[in-house]
Amino acid sequence: MVLQDELMLERRARLQAERLLQMKQGELLEANRRLSKDARDLSVEILESHQRQEALLQQHDETRVALDLARGATQIAEQRLWHSIETIEDGFAVFDDRSIMVVANAAYLAPFDGIDAVGPGIWYEEILRIAVEEGLVDTEGLSRAEWVSEMRERWHCDVIPPKTIQLWNGTFARLVDRRAQSGDTVSIALNITAETRFQAKLARSRKRAEAASRAKSSFLAKMSHEIRTPMNGVVGMAQLLSETNPSEEQKLYIDTIRSSGEALLVLINDVLDFSKIDAERLNLHPEKFDLEQAVYDVARLLRPGAQEKGVEVLVDYDMFMPQFFVGDPGRVRQIITNLVGNAVKFTETGYVLIRVSSFPDEADATHRLHITVEDTGIGIDPEKKEHIFGEFNQVDDERNRKFQGTGLGLAIALRLVSMMGGEIWVDSEPGKGSSFGFYIQLDHADGVLPAEKPTLPAWLRHVYIADPDDNGRDILRRQLASAHVQTRCFDDLNALLDAQPGAGDVVLLDGAFKAPEVAKAARALRESGFENAIYVMGASVDDSSVPVNGTLPKPLKRFDVPRVIANLMVPEIVVESKDEAPDLQPGAQGTMRVLAAEDNKTNRLVFSKLVKSARINLTFAKDGREAVAQYKALRPHLVFMDISMPEVDGKEATGQIRAYEAEHELP
Ligand code: ADP
Repeated sequence: MVLQDELMLERRARLQAERLLQMKQGELLEANRRLSKDARDLSVEILESHQRQEALLQQHDETRVALDLARGATQIAEQRLWHSIETIEDGFAVFDDRSIMVVANAAYLAPFDGIDAVGPGIWYEEILRIAVEEGLVDTEGLSRAEWVSEMRERWHCDVIPPKTIQLWNGTFARLVDRRAQSGDTVSIALNITAETRFQAKLARSRKRAEAASRAKSSFLAKMSHEIRTPMNGVVGMAQLLSETNPSEEQKLYIDTIRSSGEALLVLINDVLDFSKIDAERLNLHPEKFDLEQAVYDVARLLRPGAQEKGVEVLVDYDMFMPQFFVGDPGRVRQIITNLVGNAVKFTETGYVLIRVSSFPDEADATHRLHITVEDTGIGIDPEKKEHIFGEFNQVDDERNRKFQGTGLGLAIALRLVSMMGGEIWVDSEPGKGSSFGFYIQLDHADGVLPAEKPTLPAWLRHVYIADPDDNGRDILRRQLASAHVQTRCFDDLNALLDAQPGAGDVVLLDGAFKAPEVAKAARALRESGFENAIYVMGASVDDSSVPVNGTLPKPLKRFDVPRVIANLMVPEIVVESKDEAPDLQPGAQGTMRVLAAEDNKTNRLVFSKLVKSARINLTFAKDGREAVAQYKALRPHLVFMDISMPEVDGKEATGQIRAYEAEHELP
């Protein structure tokens, strides 16, 4: 039994051992399988890694070749760049952020030839010090220390300003230094010697040319002035000759002499003005003046010429702008005369309208005065608009050829306008008309509006206006509206008659209607029982039987009509009186004594003939000295003084007369 048990036990143990063995063998098998799989994977990996390594090696080789190529190209580019920098004649250098020279070309270092210290590695300020100590630069009057300090300050600016220096050998270098992003400073020294010398030469030549041109203009100005005196004599004598009952044929010759002489005078005056401006001898003489009067004077002066062609000259002076300004009245008038004269000359039908306005400039208490002259004339081609402002320039085409002129008027106007701080321009449409405009700066003068605004009579109801011209009617309506006068406007005389003006109304008939029609309308009004004032505007009424109160000269100033109405206290009919010879007697003081100082004999004769119809006591002085003596002896009421006379000229003589007056407290 015991044996049996032992056997059994032993068998069990063997069976267990066998199972364990079996299990271990399984595990071993599994381990071997895994091992062989890992070994397989590893060998694949090794293979791949090997392949990758080979690819990398190949890439590396390629990169190295490319790198070698790139390095070679860089070296070539660097060499080329450096050779180029060396080739240029201007200096080139680079300094690092501590102002130490990194590199410099030969041109930069050339002025320091023989000074070994100047080269890469040197400090910028050290270069400055060496430059002054060795006398390499012109310090332009500064001490060495001052120059170095100024240059150092410049070098340390964020944006270094360019600087021109002159070297000991006369070379001019313009230093241009720029900060680079890296902190380096790139310094260029441009050799501008040739340019500087050329500019200096140019400036000298220009100065000489300008002086020569001024001398020529000055000569021209003198000559024109001298020619003017005898020319005045020719024109004046022709005028006097025409009053001596010449035959028809002689009259024709005399008129030709006179009109040619007058044309020549216009030309000489233009040349004189232009050459004066060119010789810088024309000065402006500002004074307080009545701008409104100046504009109307020009318009009234040029109106007769326009009227002959049926062209109306109108003025639209802004109702709210001042009347007085400070400026050179003669020159302002000259600009306006030129523009209006041209407008009248180049307009065959229609109108010429002068518009005046001004804007206060709060900043400097001046006024910007705007004047435009509009016409319905031949107009100007767009491409000629600039050309006509040049000296002696005219539009040369079929339409223009028949008009005379110098081609200087606009050139003078342009210069005068710019002397007055303004500009001049033109808008135009060929065949339709032109509008010339300019602005100038003028000082404001006291007395903004006319001192006394007219007080209108209480009986006034309406002002009836008959005027065929739209612009004329509109301007007059606005002028009266600003004076609180109510108007009724008509473009036709019959329409006005149909409207039946009555008590409390005033009638204004425009002279642009035919004279018989105006006379007929006036008579019809009277026949209908109209007793108030009837005025004819802009034309004389020669027939004294026409029942009108009077005529008003055109263009009408802003307050002309209100002023006339203000004086119409009692409506009454006044028939116009004829003009008489002017009576210059100063009332209780007896015949007016007039002294005229004039050195030219012909002018004295012309003057005496011109005033022969005036009742005056005229005395002549032949020069300034005699004028002063005559003044003291005669105490004249009025003195005409020629400016240019030998020995004592007009200005000096006037000064002496004024001093005498002050000394003796004469009025
Ligand atoms: P002028 O009138 O003496 O010829 P300007 O200098 O005053 O000289 O004018 C130059 C030219 O400009 C004139 O000849 C004319 O051709 C042109 N021009 C000037 N004003 C006018 C205008 N209002 N209408 C047409 N053309 C004009």
